[in-house]
Amino acid sequence: MKILRNGEVDTILAPASYFTGTVFQNPIVTAPDPARVNAASVTFTPGARTNWHTHPLGQTLHVVSGSGWFQTEGEPRIDIHAGDSIWIPPGEKHWHGATDSMMMTHIAIHERDPEAGHITWLEPVDEADYLARR
Ligand code: MN
Repeated sequence: MKILRNGEVDTILAPASYFTGTVFQNPIVTAPDPARVNAASVTFTPGARTNWHTHPLGQTLHVVSGSGWFQTEGEPRIDIHAGDSIWIPPGEKHWHGATDSMMMTHIAIHERDPEAGHITWLEPVDEADYLARR
């Protein structure tokens, strides 16, 4: 077994190439082959969100604090809150993040496809789409 103690893994500032606003990532697990699971705690400051993206093998989000927004392409934006769990099927284009006025932290869990990786990044969510209720 391998244990990573609190403080042994640095918090990462999420890259501006894939996120809008200030987002912090704390890795939880990056399992070595043949395991494929990857999980991270991700904290979005108000107004911050992912780019649009897809997951080749899907993703589970579990909100641990605050309130955020989630949207699948072509569907209304929805509110997500601490305690909610969201399953995103493989290939579904979506984004997730904080609301414009509150922080949100979720645990993101996804498996790595040997060829496609675990995330396919797309374009930023523009401000009008982020703020739109539909
Ligand atoms: Mn996602």
